[in-house]
Amino acid sequence: MRAIGRFRLHTILDGFFGLDGGAMFGIVPKPLWEKQIPADERNRIRLALRCLLVVDGARRILIDDGIGDQWTEKETAIYAIDRTPSVDGALAAAGFSREEVSDLVLTHLHFDHAGGTTRRVPGGGIELSFPNATCHVQRRNWEWAHSPTERDAGSYLASRFERLERSGRLHLLDGEAEIVPGFRVVPSEGHTTGLQTAEITGGDETLVFCADLIPTTAHLKASWNMGYDLRPLDLLREKKALLSRAIRGGFLLFFEHDPRIAAARVSARPDGALHVEAVDV
Ligand SMILES: [Zn+2]
Repeated sequence: MRAIGRFRLHTILDGFFGLDGGAMFGIVPKPLWEKQIPADERNRIRLALRCLLVVDGARRILIDDGIGDQWTEKETAIYAIDRTPSVDGALAAAGFSREEVSDLVLTHLHFDHAGGTTRRVPGGGIELSFPNATCHVQRRNWEWAHSPTERDAGSYLASRFERLERSGRLHLLDGEAEIVPGFRVVPSEGHTTGLQTAEITGGDETLVFCADLIPTTAHLKASWNMGYDLRPLDLLREKKALLSRAIRGGFLLFFEHDPRIAAARVSARPDGALHVEAVDV
């Protein structure tokens, strides 16, 4: 747990999964990236599914909800899905239940960020995982998820969200917005259309939930970007802008996919290289 002003922050780990290391690092050669995150025998790297619960009195705001439980045995093997402790287990360890989540902020609807929005019901069927939560998504991402291109269709499973739309709990956002005072979402277009990062400010501290704008600490370097990014040059510009604000302001950056480091404070060395100081959340 970490306090930022009146907010209480809890890391909520849905577990780990694996993606192709080459796809995760785009143009970076394997001899370089495998020193940062080693690959397994199928060239996959282990990535965290790390969500964040932000508690502000009666508002319990969950940012992203992991990969969820709707995977076949074959898919579980392909993506090396290991849901330990799972969102449910991590919420319980923090002292909360799914029913107590009042708000769900989805950074974007890729399956490894919003896969836990619905869940299997024992005995068959699916239900909303957070029955009392208002779900905040950028309208541009919602619409894109329902008609992606051939290039990114594999990352979106829009049919999983029909139940959310019918529930009346979907709140579509048009650009920057404040969820509660001090908790802002900020749109970003480099990784996919209408992604939103989250910025939580209290006292003199700010934490940024970077989502896929900077998925791991290895992606802090300007040219280390994902092959999945739809608009690489926009991503580069957005990442550099965020990093320069974060260095100036001493922000904490929260990394959804880093296998080891949940959050860090980043500073610039005199030679321009980045110094990363891990911080517990
Ligand atoms: Zn993504």
